[in-house]
Amino acid sequence: MIYKRSSTLFREAQKVIPGGVNSPVRAFKAVGGDPIFVKEAKGAYLYDEDGNRLIDYINSWGPMILGHAHQPVVDAVVEKAKKGTSFGMPTEIETKIAELAVSMVPNIDKIRFVNSGTEACMSAVRLARGFTKKDKIIKFAGCYHGHSDSFLIQAGSGAVTFGSPNSPGVTEGTAKDTLLARYNDLGNVEEIINSNKNEIACIIIEPVAGNMGCIPPVKGFLEGLRSLCDAHNILLIFDEVMTGFRLAKGGVQELYGIKADIVTFGKVIGGGLPVGAFAAREEIMNHLAPLGPVYQAGTLSGNPLAMAAGLAMLTELHENSNIFDSIAKKTEYLHEGIAKALIEKNIVHTINRVGSMISVHFSENPVIDFESAAEGNNDTFKKFFHGMLNQGIYIAPSAFETWFITEALTYEDLDTTIKAVSAIAENL
Ligand code: PMP
Repeated sequence: MIYKRSSTLFREAQKVIPGGVNSPVRAFKAVGGDPIFVKEAKGAYLYDEDGNRLIDYINSWGPMILGHAHQPVVDAVVEKAKKGTSFGMPTEIETKIAELAVSMVPNIDKIRFVNSGTEACMSAVRLARGFTKKDKIIKFAGCYHGHSDSFLIQAGSGAVTFGSPNSPGVTEGTAKDTLLARYNDLGNVEEIINSNKNEIACIIIEPVAGNMGCIPPVKGFLEGLRSLCDAHNILLIFDEVMTGFRLAKGGVQELYGIKADIVTFGKVIGGGLPVGAFAAREEIMNHLAPLGPVYQAGTLSGNPLAMAAGLAMLTELHENSNIFDSIAKKTEYLHEGIAKALIEKNIVHTINRVGSMISVHFSENPVIDFESAAEGNNDTFKKFFHGMLNQGIYIAPSAFETWFITEALTYEDLDTTIKAVSAIAENL
């Protein structure tokens, strides 16, 4: 495939945008080469500026659960846009989507909408600190909760891809309040809690990790965190920015039957528009301004276009909840096909999968935490990435990312993908 115009556009972009991109992972720095510039997308496919059609396994990093330019979402946005794009005043649709979200997700009474996953997590932590009147937080190495200062401590996703899991610009004062634990290691969390008695406000976790590839929680891990939180008056924050409205209607809380105190959302909840949200039981949410003292705000929060897209998306997921099963089955089919193709050519690999999230690691050991995720062979991954791209299949340009499966993918698309893996496996 030819990507000439994309390369030209990338050169132009670099003159006026740092690195030519508005979010680092897009730049292909980890895999080499120039990024693809998208012209448009429909269903499971991207159409780039060179006229190539690509099968999309990123899906805007998760939100396009029903495919790109899904008609009910597009219609909802277009109709709303005709009536004004922002008011900075309350609108009825905010209550509608809030009611729906609260009815779909367990253990939440109230929800507040923001503009990104970063804002959602940042606000959730402030709320947890305000509620518990404690300062420190525990996060896990390799988990990503957005780019707010407190989270750029051993962060996953682009932060680790670009070698800055601890970003310059984060003050020591901020960094000292973020305590770092190993994912899937309950003993480590317990040690940290014991050496910081009565100081920890919350534990924030991706309950199924997606930012060091996909890493499921080992049996008992989330249950153990819940018990530790209960025993030490710590709030448990599930960052469901990736998993919310994807792994189940009610996210990981529903999937594994574990209760979180605060849940954060992004991606699917905005139907592809800039939306995030955080939610909790009433007692906690009532600490937020204007009811309580914890300040949090946003000019564009609850923006009508974003709410319209989100409402159209959640309505469809609510009414047709067999979508979750359907995308999980497609993911399982893909998993089996890719594994078979790699085994046939004796390529050392590990595939992790939960529901419609999947990642391929070129590593022989189980990938259960940040350290084991980092053991993967990056040279093999680069070859894999470019081999797939040359055959018109677009996966995340970093080994530390997850593939997101959409309902728009057909079994024929999946077979094409598996065939592409077979074709390149020999040269990995
Ligand atoms: N939390 C998680 C689990 C994420 O995956 C992301 C983004 N990939 C964020 C938070 C931040 O969301 P945003 O990029 O919308 O700020």
